[in-house]
Amino acid sequence: MVDFIGIRRAQELVGELGPAAFIGGLAREIEADYRRWAQFDKSPRHATHSAVGVIELMPASDGRQYAFKYVNGHPKNTAKGLLTVMAFGVLADVQTGYPLLLSEMTLATALRTAATSAVAARWMARRDSRVMALIGNGAQAEFQAVAFHHLQGIRELRLYDTDPAATDKLEDNLARLRLEALAVVRCRCAAEAVRGADIVTTATADKRNAVILTPEMIAPGMHLNAVGGDCPGKTELHADILRRADARVVVEFEPQSRIEGEIQQLPPQFPVTELAEVVAGRRPGRAAEAEVTIFDSVGFALQDFSALRYLYRLHQQRRGTRSRIDLIPDLQDPKDLFSLLAPGTDGRKRPAALADALSV
Ligand code: NAD
Repeated sequence: MVDFIGIRRAQELVGELGPAAFIGGLAREIEADYRRWAQFDKSPRHATHSAVGVIELMPASDGRQYAFKYVNGHPKNTAKGLLTVMAFGVLADVQTGYPLLLSEMTLATALRTAATSAVAARWMARRDSRVMALIGNGAQAEFQAVAFHHLQGIRELRLYDTDPAATDKLEDNLARLRLEALAVVRCRCAAEAVRGADIVTTATADKRNAVILTPEMIAPGMHLNAVGGDCPGKTELHADILRRADARVVVEFEPQSRIEGEIQQLPPQFPVTELAEVVAGRRPGRAAEAEVTIFDSVGFALQDFSALRYLYRLHQQRRGTRSRIDLIPDLQDPKDLFSLLAPGTDGRKRPAALADALSV
């Protein structure tokens, strides 16, 4: 039997801790895993592109456990009432190759993306950062807001989205959360949102080289958390922002970010730092108050590995129904797979789902 976390169970597990504490715990797990970066088997994700979006497979392993995520990115989906990003994933035991957990990862992706953004900001943003612009107020936005309020001490959020209904939704959700001492300011354009901000998070979705931030919007000392540019031909920053003499660019996994990140706009020799080097203390996330620091986030499989392991542990420890699913044959004789199908044998009790499938 394989443990199963569906949407309802994920809601229960996150709900028990509360989103802020859940993201805080996950941020600690992600940072700890980035500190043992060398132990991980890493590869750029496998992306299958179409005219409207992308479907990606994201594997990672530390030699003891293996994880992969299936995730899409379809910016036009919301017009059909579907999510831009949805995902599910598996955590497996390397010794046997058997899966331990099959989990939803749509919520987990938003939670781990926000947690990773907060980890990067802890090392890169100025310590006195209190004001954040949040541009792109869709599915990821609340998670980013909660993470930066809870972990980074943000006390003013400046919101902008080309779709006013998305900002309405974000404002309503933030009001319901009653985050302590948080002022929420609605802005008429990205430039207005960015003016006076210490941190700028961009989480827009558009399958093109969009220019959400232009060079004149950027002030010395800002930290940019660029989340939405994560595919070839899908970026958010004007390339001159990356080229600033005082800019420091940090990426998750360089070979993948060269293909998918904001840095795809620059030559391959353009210098970047990997987040693992920063959290290990080998390279600075910020060397001066006036530097412009840029976390060029695309999402990396290690973060999903951390999220799946965290969810698996909570699933085992926490209250509520621990669902398990009948995904793998459990045989009396592992060489007698056919016993599942042959009439009159009892290699194991025939699972109802399999019986249904066979009767079709
Ligand atoms: P979403 O479709 O729910 O929300 C995106 C929002 O951006 C929409 O409300 C849209 O109106 C707005 N938008 C589009 N163009 C804009 C512009 N020019 N100015 C202001 N707002 C604009 O998508 P989501 O799930 O919130 O994801 C946001 C982005 O983050 C996507 O591009 C997604 O691929 C990316 N993402 C990255 C990571 C990562 O790890 N880096 C993880 C998850 C999602």
